Amino acid sequence: MTCPCGSNQSYETCCGVFHSGQQTAPTAEALMRSRYPAFAKHKTSYLKDTTWPAYQKHFDEAGYLTRAKDSIWLGLDIEATEDGIATDTKGTVTFTAKSMLNGVLNEQREKNFFKKKSGHWYYVKAVES
Ligand SMILES: [Zn+2]
Repeated sequence: MTCPCGSNQSYETCCGVFHSGQQTAPTAEALMRSRYPAFAKHKTSYLKDTTWPAYQKHFDEAGYLTRAKDSIWLGLDIEATEDGIATDTKGTVTFTAKSMLNGVLNEQREKNFFKKKSGHWYYVKAVES
């Protein structure tokens, strides 16, 4: 199966290695890419684990799981990145995530802020794009 992140690679060798914990996303963009298939694959624990640690207690895992299961995940377009490479500790990724819920197409465009801590990238929050 092709990875839902849009890489045209197989899921197992693409974002699957991050979801299984075999590897850690090396860049903010890789983490962003890997979070999208986590919706498609209903891996909401991965979404929680890659949320900034101080914010994890507010993470509504049940809510995310319901949304993940009820939606059809149509694709992800990465539009821009700022910093966030392996040698950085902060970065942003601008993307559009496409999904369908109850027959309604939803194109969610966001700019997300990521930070690295102890060698791991985390999603912090959405910022102005
Ligand atoms: Zn992927």
